[in-house]
Amino acid sequence: MELRDRVAGLMEQARTDLTELVAIPSVADPRQYPPEECARAAKWVLDAFATVGFADARLAETADGSQAVVGSRPCGDPDAPTVLLYAHYDVQPPLNEEAWRTPPFALTEVGDRWYGRGSADCKGNIVMHLTALRALGADIPVNLKLVVEGSEEQGTGGLEAFVPPNADLLRADTILVCDTGNAAVGVPAATVSLRGMVNLVVSVEALASELHSGMFGGAAPDALAALVAMLATLRDGAGNTTVSGLDNTGTWTGEPYPAEQFRSDAGVVEGAALLGDGTVSDMLWARSSVTILGIDCPPVVGSAAAITPKARARLNLRIPPGTAPEEAEKALREHLLAAAPWGVHVTIDTEATGSPFHAATDGPAYAAMAAAMEEAYGRPMATLGQGGSIPLCNVFAETYPDAELFLMGVEEPQALIHAPNESVDPSEIANMALVEALFLQRYAATRR
Ligand SMILES: [Zn+2]
Repeated sequence: MELRDRVAGLMEQARTDLTELVAIPSVADPRQYPPEECARAAKWVLDAFATVGFADARLAETADGSQAVVGSRPCGDPDAPTVLLYAHYDVQPPLNEEAWRTPPFALTEVGDRWYGRGSADCKGNIVMHLTALRALGADIPVNLKLVVEGSEEQGTGGLEAFVPPNADLLRADTILVCDTGNAAVGVPAATVSLRGMVNLVVSVEALASELHSGMFGGAAPDALAALVAMLATLRDGAGNTTVSGLDNTGTWTGEPYPAEQFRSDAGVVEGAALLGDGTVSDMLWARSSVTILGIDCPPVVGSAAAITPKARARLNLRIPPGTAPEEAEKALREHLLAAAPWGVHVTIDTEATGSPFHAATDGPAYAAMAAAMEEAYGRPMATLGQGGSIPLCNVFAETYPDAELFLMGVEEPQALIHAPNESVDPSEIANMALVEALFLQRYAATRR
C-alpha cells in the first residue's frame, strides 16, 4: 500500500490518541494542576512510543523537576544516519475558560477542525510522529531517537539544562523540532529563523522623595518625565525601532506575511497603522523590535499632585539572526544612558539574553525535507520566520554543531496556539505525518 493510503487508514487511531492525550490537563505548573496530570501524560507518551519500537523508552528527570520521555529505535545499520524526534507533552493553561466554545480538555470536532488545549501545541505533533512511524511499520531505514519534554511551556529550562550533560543520549545527525507549523493549512513550510532577545530593567532617579507639583513643579527634575523621554527615543515616527548602533534595515526573503492576514491575526483596531517601513515579515523576522513590558510609577487611582522621584521600566528587545545578544544589550544600554535628560541617575539591570537562531538550509536533511513536503502537498516548501525564541534550538545547535535542525509541525496560524479555542486541522496531521515518513525514507537514501 502507498504511504499516503497507510496514513489515511491510521487517522481514526490518530483521533483516538489525540482524544486521550488532550483529556489529560498536563499543565506543568503545580500551582494550577496536580503534577500527577503531567505524570499521566508522560506515561501515555512512553507507552505509545514503546509500541512503535522504542523498546528502551524511559522517563528522565530534568533540573526543573519535569520528566522527559527519552528513547531510541536503532535500525540495525550502524552506517545509517540518526534522527532525533522532538515534541513536548505539557500544555498551556486554558486561560479564560469562558472564552472557549468547547471544553478545553475534551477533543471536539467543529467543522473541519478538532478543538482542545494542546490539540496542535504540541500533542498534535506527538500524534504526527506516531502516525508517521506506524505508517512506516518495521521499514524505518534510519536510527531514531526520541525526546518528548514535559515543561516547554513553563520556560523553566528543564530540557535545556538536560541536553549538554546528556549529549550522547540525544546525539543525532538531524533533529526534527516539531513545535511549529506551516504557513497555512495546505502550505508546507520550514521555520528557518527565530529571533533572540534582551530583557532589561532601566531605573531613573531624580529626587530624594515626592515633591508637591505646585510648589516644585517646573524646576524640579521629574523622574517619570525623564523615563518617558528616554523610552520615546526607542522608536521613530513610523514606529521603527531605533536603538543607536543596531542595524534595523533587514529584509525577509522567505514566505511573506500578508498585511491583511497580520491585521486580522493581531486584532489591530480599525484605523490603527502597522508599524515600520518594512513589510510585516521584515518587521517580525528580520529586524529588531523593542517592547515596553512594564513601567513602575504611581497608578492613576491613588496618585497625588506630586512629582515622581523614581521610575523604572522593563524592556524586551527582540533581535534577528545576525545580531549577537551581547552587542544588542550593549547598544540598548548605551542608547538609554545617552538619551537620559537633565543628568538624572540611570541604572540598568539585564534580566536575560537569548541568541537568535538561523537554520542551515544547505544540508542533505533540508533537501530531503523539501522534497518530502513537495511530494506530500504538491507544492514547494516555503520558509518562515518566527518572531519569538525557542531557547532549546540554541542548546541543540551549540551541543551538536554538525547536526541539521529542522522546525516544523501541525501548528499553522489558525491553530491559535496558547489562546482559547486552540485547534488542529486533521489534514495537517495526516499530511505532516506523510511528510515525516517520506523524509525518514529519503534522508536514509541520501547517505547511501
Ligand atoms: Zn509548543
